[in-house]
Amino acid sequence: MIRKTKIIATIGPSCSKLSILKRMIKKGVNVCRLNFSHLSFEKAKEIISNVKTINQELSTHTAIMADLQGPKIRVKKINNKNNQLNTVIGQTISIGASKKHDMSVDYRGFSKDVKKGDNVLIEDGKLAFKVLKKEKNTVLLRSMNNGVIKERKGINLPDTNIKMSSLTKKDLADLKFVLSENIEWIALSFVRKKEDVVFLQKKIKKAKSNAKVIAKIEKPEAVKNIDEIIELSDGIMIARGDLGVEIPAHKVPVLQKKIVNKCRFGSKPCIIATQMLESMTNNFSATRAEINDVSNSVFDGADALMLSGETSIGKHPLKVVETMRKTIKDAEKSMEDFEFKKIRGRVSTKRKIADNICKNTVKVANDLNAKAIISATYSGYSALKVSSYRPKAFIYAFTNNHNILNTMSMFWGVVGFYYDRGSTTDQLIEETIDILHKNKIVKKGDIIINTSSMPAKEKGGTNTLKISTI
Ligand code: PGA
Ligand code: MN
Repeated sequence: MIRKTKIIATIGPSCSKLSILKRMIKKGVNVCRLNFSHLSFEKAKEIISNVKTINQELSTHTAIMADLQGPKIRVKKINNKNNQLNTVIGQTISIGASKKHDMSVDYRGFSKDVKKGDNVLIEDGKLAFKVLKKEKNTVLLRSMNNGVIKERKGINLPDTNIKMSSLTKKDLADLKFVLSENIEWIALSFVRKKEDVVFLQKKIKKAKSNAKVIAKIEKPEAVKNIDEIIELSDGIMIARGDLGVEIPAHKVPVLQKKIVNKCRFGSKPCIIATQMLESMTNNFSATRAEINDVSNSVFDGADALMLSGETSIGKHPLKVVETMRKTIKDAEKSMEDFEFKKIRGRVSTKRKIADNICKNTVKVANDLNAKAIISATYSGYSALKVSSYRPKAFIYAFTNNHNILNTMSMFWGVVGFYYDRGSTTDQLIEETIDILHKNKIVKKGDIIINTSSMPAKEKGGTNTLKISTI
C-alpha cells in the first residue's frame, strides 16, 4: 500500500461520514483537507473528530490541513430579478454598492484598486472583462466575451495590486476556530509576499500552536516572490486553479516544474493541486490526460498530489483515491533510475552537520542499495531533510510526538512510527530495526541505515549515521 508521493483529499459532503472516510484513508489518503471557503465550523468539527477517531482505530497518522480562503473577491449581488446577468461581447456593465449598479462585489476597495485597462475575470476566467472607466464609486467594465454572471462566483484581478489584507475577517474567524482544534497544517490562499506567511505564522505562534503554514501559489506576485516565500513557508501548494487564471494557463506546466525543484532544493514539501482527476467528479473513470498529469506530477517530484471537488462533492470519492494511488504507484516504479539523481537539496549553513549527515545518508543508502533509512526525529526536520534528497529507500521516521507523526504524512517517502523508548543510541537503533523486522518491512540480510543524535538523551541535532546488516 505504501507510496512515496502522498495523497491529499478534500473532505466534503461526499466523504465526510466516518464509514466512507475510513475507507478513503485505508485506500491511501494521507492528508485530509478542510476547505474553509465551503465549510461550517460544525461540519469541520465533525470531520476533524472523525479523522482522529480513525487514526486511533487504524493506528494511522492522517494529517489535517485547514485551507483558508484568503483575499478572494466574489460577486456579491446582481441587481435584477433573476439575480444573474447575461453579458454580450462589447457590452458595458457597472459595478458599485448601490442598487442602480448592475452588480456589487464583496470587497470595498475594488474601485480604488483597479485601474483602467485591468483584466477582470469571473468564474475561473470563463467571463473576461476590461476596466473601461472609473467614476466616483463606480467601475465600468467592457465585456470581452458572452456569458452569464452569477452571484458568489470568484473574481480574479491578475493585473491589479489588491490592497486587501492577506487574512480577511472571515480568515481570522476561521483561524481562531482552527487553532482551537489540534491540526497540523494551515494553507493560506492568494499569498503575495513573504510577509503574508510571517503574519500568519505569528498568529499561530501566539496561540501556542505548532501548526505549519502552506503558502498557496496562485498570484503573479507570489510567482515573482517565490524564493522568499519558499524560504519562509513550511510548505508550498501550486494552486493551479487560480494560478491558471491569474497567469496564462499555458505557462503553468513549466512553472510547476520550476517550483517543485525549488521546493526540493529548499527542503520544503510541495503540493500539486487542482483538476488532477476533475472529470471523475461525475465520471467513473479518468481521462487519459488526467492520468498523464498525475503521473507527470510524480515525475516532477511533488511531495503530495491533491484532490478537490473529486472527493469532496464528487460521485465516486473512493474510486478517485484508488485511481490516484494506482497511477502514483506505477509512476514511482519506473522513477528510481531516471529522475532524482540530478538534483540535490541544499545543505544549510545553520544546520551544517545535520544536513550533511542527511545528505550522505542518502548517498550511502543508494550506493549500498539499503532497504530502509531509519530516522529518529523530534521535530521531523531530519526526516524532511532526508526526504528532500529523494532516496531510493523509504524513510521510516520514529518519534514519540503524535502531531509530528501526522505532520510527516505530507512528506515524500516518509513513513511514521510511534516510538517512545531509546534512552541510548544503541537501544534506539536495535529496537527501531526490530520494529521494521517484525512488521516485515525488512528481512535478514538487508542493509539498514540509521540516522540519530548521539548521545540520545541530549535530544540534539542529527550527528550519527549507522549502517547495519540484519
Ligand atoms: P482553491 O485553491 O481550491 O481554494 O481555489 C486551489 C487552486 O486555486 O488551485
Ligand atoms: Mn485557489
